[in-house]
Amino acid sequence: MPQLTGAEVERIFREAGAVRDGHFVLASGRHSGRYLEKFQVLQRPRETEKLAGAIASWARGRDVATVAGPTTGGIILAHEVARQLGTRAVYAERGELGGREFRRGFSLAPGERVLVVDDIMSTGGSVHETIAAVRATGATVLGAAVLVDRSGGEATLDVPLYALWRLEIPTYGVGCPLCAAGAPLEHPGTTPAPTVAAR
Ligand SMILES: [Zn+2]
Repeated sequence: MPQLTGAEVERIFREAGAVRDGHFVLASGRHSGRYLEKFQVLQRPRETEKLAGAIASWARGRDVATVAGPTTGGIILAHEVARQLGTRAVYAERGELGGREFRRGFSLAPGERVLVVDDIMSTGGSVHETIAAVRATGATVLGAAVLVDRSGGEATLDVPLYALWRLEIPTYGVGCPLCAAGAPLEHPGTTPAPTVAAR
């Protein structure tokens, strides 16, 4: 599977209708004028296979034993990357006291080589938490791969990072210009989908 350029990844996201402009609250609580609705891509197995293939290409030769991702998109992505690498896939869920943890009988052995994957990296929080959950088992994180790094380089990791598409999307705290303009605010991601499919 050939590598994909950032422009090709952007085209896949745009054609899937995953790039939305408006006024959004992100998971971090900050506001943004652009939102990437990754599930518009992840609902399409062929596109997901293509994107995961680029990650699998990068990961081949790195002796990956297991692929781990954070809920929710990371479940799908980890599974497809693992399918292509011929490894196991596990996922980390939100812990009751914060952070992430492995449940459902998932176990990692000390020294087991784990690749962490996620869909969109905004602040890096989910990726950091998943890396911490892997290390808490004694396993080794050999690297991380994401479909999109939208942090503009702000999110840094202590393992090699492969991002298929890097872009900078401004986010706002106090003093959001979209709030000042009175633009209606959307809570994307977990809000119910419209009853009539767009396409
Ligand atoms: Zn705002």
